[in-house]
Amino acid sequence: MKINQRKNDDENLVGFWEGEKCEYCNGPILEKKIALPRKVGRRYILIKNVPVGVCKECGTKYYAANILKTIESSVRGRRKPVNKVPMFVYSL
Ligand SMILES: [Zn+2]
Repeated sequence: MKINQRKNDDENLVGFWEGEKCEYCNGPILEKKIALPRKVGRRYILIKNVPVGVCKECGTKYYAANILKTIESSVRGRRKPVNKVPMFVYSL
């Protein structure tokens, strides 16, 4: 996981990764919104609609610094969840 420290004052992140190249393979970086599952203590949380840059060639994910801050706030419980769902658990 890589962090892009480029300043982004605009709340709208569309176009943030446009034209950027992967620093490992020089592949083009595409913008996507993903769902991030995280384990927090004994619980699991899901952070939806996370804007992320994904290298088309090697799949490396790139996060903007302000997005990482928001993820961190969610993990630490400083944000209000939008939903709560029961979850099926399987074991192998
Ligand atoms: Zn790459």
